[in-house]
Amino acid sequence: MTIQPSFPAPSDTQPAAEAAARVTPMMEQYLEIKAANPGLLLFYRMGDFYELFFEDAEIASRALGIMLTKRGKHQGMDIPMCGVPVERSDDYLHRLIAQGHRVAVCEQMEDPAAARARGNKSVVRRDVVRLVTPGTLTEDTLLDARANNYLLAIARARGSVGADRIGLAWIDISTAEFIVTECSTGELTATLSRINPNEVIVTDALYGDPDLGPVLRELPAVTPLTRDVFDSSTAERRLCDYFAVATMDGLSAMSRLEATAAAAAVTYIDRTQVGKRPPLSPPSREAAGTTMAIDPATRANLELTRTLAGERRGSLLDAIDCTVTPAGSRLLAQRLAAPLTDSAGIARRLDAITAFVADAAVRDDLRATLRAAPDMSRALARLSLGRGGPRDLAGLRDGILAADRALARLAAIEPPPQEIAAVMEALRRPSRELAREFERALSEQLPLVKRDGGFVREAYEGALDEARNLRDASRLVVAAMQARYADDAGVKGLKIRHNNVLGYFVEVTAQHGDRLMAPPLNATFIHRQTLAGQIRFTTSELGEIEAKIANAGDRALGIELEIFERLCALAIVASDDLRAAAHAFAVLDVATALAKLAVDDNYVRPEVDTSLGFAIEGGRHPVVEQALKRDGQPFIANACDLSPVPPPYPPPQAGEDRVGAGQIWLITGPNMAGKSTFLRQNALIALMAQAGCFVPASRARLGIVDRLFSRVGAADDLARGRSTFMVEMVETAVILNQASERSLVILDEIGRGTATFDGLSIAWAAIEHLHEANRCRTLFATHYHELTALSAKLPRMFNATVRVKEWQGDVVFLHEVLPGSADRSYGIQVAKLAGLPAPVIARRAPSRYWQNWRRRTAARPPARWPTTCRYLRCPRAPPPSRPRQTRRRSWSKR
Ligand code: ADP
Ligand code: MG
Repeated sequence: MTIQPSFPAPSDTQPAAEAAARVTPMMEQYLEIKAANPGLLLFYRMGDFYELFFEDAEIASRALGIMLTKRGKHQGMDIPMCGVPVERSDDYLHRLIAQGHRVAVCEQMEDPAAARARGNKSVVRRDVVRLVTPGTLTEDTLLDARANNYLLAIARARGSVGADRIGLAWIDISTAEFIVTECSTGELTATLSRINPNEVIVTDALYGDPDLGPVLRELPAVTPLTRDVFDSSTAERRLCDYFAVATMDGLSAMSRLEATAAAAAVTYIDRTQVGKRPPLSPPSREAAGTTMAIDPATRANLELTRTLAGERRGSLLDAIDCTVTPAGSRLLAQRLAAPLTDSAGIARRLDAITAFVADAAVRDDLRATLRAAPDMSRALARLSLGRGGPRDLAGLRDGILAADRALARLAAIEPPPQEIAAVMEALRRPSRELAREFERALSEQLPLVKRDGGFVREAYEGALDEARNLRDASRLVVAAMQARYADDAGVKGLKIRHNNVLGYFVEVTAQHGDRLMAPPLNATFIHRQTLAGQIRFTTSELGEIEAKIANAGDRALGIELEIFERLCALAIVASDDLRAAAHAFAVLDVATALAKLAVDDNYVRPEVDTSLGFAIEGGRHPVVEQALKRDGQPFIANACDLSPVPPPYPPPQAGEDRVGAGQIWLITGPNMAGKSTFLRQNALIALMAQAGCFVPASRARLGIVDRLFSRVGAADDLARGRSTFMVEMVETAVILNQASERSLVILDEIGRGTATFDGLSIAWAAIEHLHEANRCRTLFATHYHELTALSAKLPRMFNATVRVKEWQGDVVFLHEVLPGSADRSYGIQVAKLAGLPAPVIARRAPSRYWQNWRRRTAARPPARWPTTCRYLRCPRAPPPSRPRQTRRRSWSKR
């Protein structure tokens, strides 16, 4: 989605001079600020409201469902206006941002009294203090606690034809993460879907590019920016400036292109935060090829973080996320989005989980500790941008205290694996003195905002106590005064009240009003206001006390705010250490959560190496298993072996090439038997293993997968104007062009979206290509039983089927994957189960008819069959000369 086009300045149909003459000073100020912030809705502060005018008002009133009113005239036309109360503006901002708008927040920069003092016509000075955009949020109320919120900058370096390079830099200012990488244009979509940004900035040129433009314009909240933001010659200077360092050496060793993207991102942050600089971690560089490449279609298909319907519930992440903190949940999502390809890195993560699987007591205690540890990195970001509150300070205090408790528990793990050792080191970093200082300073009960004070503990600072005592003593004086006045006037119900307009005043009911206004009482009580039921008075004494109370109150508040700033500064100085500890908590949360999942759901540690092996015993689908468990149903575990290594199978015969390339399993079986489930569970197990999780299996030995592909036949993408079959073919083409020997490919009923024999031909040719050219580990589910004949010709292809039992004309699904091939699909039985009307089931063409038809067509293949499908000439292939292995391939039988 692209940002709303900028609001055009009001039309200049009338001569400029005449128009200007009619513009009020306030409108003039508004239009000037508006013009300086094109493309943003302007929240223009007026007292307790942010007001929107002109088209902004129309957009906002529609988007927020609030009333559109009018205020004055501009060039003879009514000015549309709507407003939101400042108190509740977060909620409105949230809704606007969620709909893809960006907002400029314009505040009053002086007291209206100061403006009045300058003269009648002067306007309160106002300035934009912040641009609120989807990728630069920090407020808890605006953010999803369990997801990262990334701003992504994309830069391009022109290469020779087709060899352009893309530099990417992404930042989550709410957690200070800052990452850069470089990729080819071909890898761009997979990289983008991995990062999953909330806002994107690109150059004008890239935005309008005929090839990449359409891909970029589909991203959320894309803003094209002028070239100076992406200027590579000034990139280093801008980065150094942001991080306040003299040279880039201390930052990471970035390529020029990465630095360009990084500089663009920080420049944009500078602009949106209007001078306030959120502290960021130095950019960390992600080297190419260190993560498993997963393209958007595969991600969607495997429902990694969202289901196909767009929900978190039902996704892999939802099924395995047992973390107890938002930061832990974010880290787990990151790990699932970018599984590693380095077996040492994977082993480090698995070692930590292993330690927590072994020690239930430590695991449970740590989880209890983590539950009480707040989201320190986000609290820190808010504090450093001046948007934090007392509870954010308390969060840091509690975090540091939790670190001590966690360390005490972790000491029980002896010796600690590398990841846990690193966690312990990070948890030791924050200064304990800081926590003690916060503890001394902050009250038990903390208000949400600092504005009204009341968050500093008694006896923390003498001057504050003094001011507070004075304020409170004066309040007692007022109470005494009320009693005295009631006595003097002989009015029992006389009250002293306070409001912002009158300050302190005396209030009596209307019936007693006359008495106070008549001598002698009128010498003391000065009439101020007559309401329907009450009459209000002031006295000179009240005026004096009022000033005293206000002074003492103001002084107390001033001191409190000073203390807040001081504590904030202490936190910011310690921000590196605090962030390291926050990250350590997240790592600990993920490790303990995955350990708990492993124990509760019987997951095992995968054995990941650099081979091309792929052997899973007792594999299960993590999501389907949980769904069945809720219904009290068992999940049937299945083995899968795509390893190229021959030992458990007959040795290769002369001329047969089996070593060094993965197998293809062709899975046939009835509808609803569990083919798709089986395919996905194996892909998910590989992905989880490389993300450093335990896996739902009884044993899993896996060689690193560099790219994972998953395709399902007949998935519509009508939004992008592609028919079912077109999508299927485009996606299949990607696989056949890109899959390497290290890849894992899952093809589910490819070829299904077209005429039977076209589809069969394509499926046939695709399997051949995967076998001969890609040579990757492949699972292929199909209803084209003719394809099973290919196993006679393709030595690394193997037929498997999902078992069913027929019982009294119905079919019973056993969900067991065994060697062999299905000879029928039981479509009629499934249709019956699904409740197709009985006459339709009865009327169906007899299978004899189709058998005859098949014989006829097989004898005369249509001329348009691709020549690559040499085997199609005999779909009913002769039995293989050497009987295929029917032994069940599982590790336990070796
Ligand atoms: P197919 O692709 O063969 O038509 P699916 O994989 O869609 O079948 O599975 C259909 C349903 O069967 C699933 O929704 C699930 O409830 C059930 N199922 C699949 N595999 C298993 C299994 N191994 N154990 C138990 N139930 C299963
Ligand atoms: Mg299926």
